[in-house]
Amino acid sequence: MSKLLGKCPYCDDGKIEVRAIQVEGKPIKLYACTNAKWHYESDFAELTPDSTCSFRIFQNQLRRWNKKAIGENEVRTLLKEQQVKVRLYSANAKKEYFKWVILDKEYGISVLWDEDV
Ligand SMILES: [Zn+2]
Repeated sequence: MSKLLGKCPYCDDGKIEVRAIQVEGKPIKLYACTNAKWHYESDFAELTPDSTCSFRIFQNQLRRWNKKAIGENEVRTLLKEQQVKVRLYSANAKKEYFKWVILDKEYGISVLWDEDV
């Protein structure tokens, strides 16, 4: 039984669970709906035909902004409050900054770049 973080925002009976997957040979966590079954081929993910939901957030989805991992508690907050504050890091300015992250049906999450925290 996987660890459950909360109710899926996109389907009636789905729960968001923590899965351990491999991406490019590295183990990472995937936060996915119990109704979203993914098939992996190297770094390419595809929903299986019997999936009824597509919710998923990759743990390393914000690594481009120097956030190594999205934590389980951050996902819990996101599911409960529809938004969560995350700490990012600017390599140019050499300092950290905070942004709101919200749920995004297509990408799992998106960062509200125009809003100050
Ligand atoms: Zn779902």
